[in-house]
Parts: sequence; C-alpha cells; structure tokens
Amino acid sequence: MTESEAAREKMVRTQLQARGVRSQAVLDAMRAVPRHLFVPELSIEKAYSDRALPTAAGQTISQPYIVARMTELLSVQPGMKVLEVGTGSGYQTAILACMGAEVVTVERSPELLEWARNALAEVCPEVLGTFGAPIRMLLADGSMGAAEDAPYDRILVTAAAPRVPKAYEAQLTDPGRLVIPLGDRYTQTLTIIDRQGDQFTATNDVACRFVPLIGEDGWAPA
Ligand code: SAM
Repeated sequence: MTESEAAREKMVRTQLQARGVRSQAVLDAMRAVPRHLFVPELSIEKAYSDRALPTAAGQTISQPYIVARMTELLSVQPGMKVLEVGTGSGYQTAILACMGAEVVTVERSPELLEWARNALAEVCPEVLGTFGAPIRMLLADGSMGAAEDAPYDRILVTAAAPRVPKAYEAQLTDPGRLVIPLGDRYTQTLTIIDRQGDQFTATNDVACRFVPLIGEDGWAPA
C-alpha cells in the first residue's frame, strides 16, 4: 500500500465510518480518489487531515467528512446526470464521476476551473477512466444552474446560499434531489430538497460552513 492509499484508508475509517457514513459506493470513491492531487502542494498527512483546506482564489476544498456526507445524502446511482455548483478544486467532481455519474460542474472563478481541469486530467485516466463518465466543466454563474444540460437527476451545491436559487427547482428531474448548504454567510445547515411532482420537501441535516455562493441568485460579492 502506498503512503497516500494508507492515508485514504485511515481517513475513511477514522473520519467517515466513525461519523456514520455507511454508503459503500461513497466509501469506495473516497478510498479511490487521490485527494492530495487536488490541493496545492501539501504533505500527504495534511492533504488527508480532518478539515477544509485552502485552494486558489481564497476558496476552499471541503473537509472529507462533509464531501462524503453530502455525497451520501445526494444518493447518486451510476448513470445519473448530476449538476455540481462550485467546482473549486475538482475533488467533489472526481468523487461523483468515480461513482459513475455524468457530471456537469459550474465554477465562477477561471483560475479554479483551470486548476480543477488540470487535476482531473491527471486523475481521470487512472481513477475515473474505467467509468467512462463524461465531465462537462463550465465557467458561469452557477446560482442560475446550467439550463443547457438540464434536467438533472441530482443537484449538489458546494457553496453557501441564502435561499434555494429559483432555477434549480425547474432544472431538477421529477423525482429529483438537491443538496445545498442554506443559511447566512458564516454558518449553514446542509439541506436536502426532494422533488415529487410539484412538491418540494426540505429536510435539514448537519451544520456546516461553506464559502458563499456569489451570483445573481446568491450573495453579492463582499
Ligand atoms: N466542490 C469543491 C471541491 O471539491 O473542491 C469545493 C467548492 S468551494 C467550497 C466553493 C466554490 O464555489 C468556490 O470554488 C467558488 O469559487 C465557487 N462559487 C461561488 N459562487 C459561485 C457561483 N455563483 N457559480 C459557480 N461557482 C461558484
């Protein structure tokens, strides 16, 4: 076992399983995707530590547990089309693709999109290649969703929103599921929104802290 494989195994056991993440598909993806390739030069120990880490442009890559929890809540099946809002480092994108999802990911920062593109290119042939899942990367304001590829079986928002942006409900399949951190700029609650026909039912999960969703239907730039 390499040093990074050992670090991932430990992360899965002590940070994810210990906190109740049960989905085998999520645990397998978290074991498979080399998180250290998505963060700026850090030791293996730091890359797999139990916290969010800084990326370029003052943004963050979420704590492993939050990535796993959000992915578990999303309930992704192979072949589903998933919209991710907030590509950031590309790590969450890789987890979703590794689970066999067809991912459309939207990022507002050109610098981060470029970073994620390079990281995914490095990881893809080795980790994601066997799934053959296409990844579409868009530079846009994700608070408006991504209408051109809609509808989506799942929408995962990895930035904090003050409310559910209007476009998302219309871009979800029926049935469909959206997972989004809702709250103020500093603390939020991970919220699951389930669509059944015209009914949208919200369920609250754990408390979390994300960088803001900046855009037309999000927060104004600080
Ligand atoms: N999913 C990422 C990962 O795995 O590294 C973490 C995302 S980071 C917590 C939040 C990201 O959302 C940042 O990269 C930020 O630039 C992006 N963001 C904020 N507002 C956005 C918007 N309106 N549209 C698209 N991306 C946005």
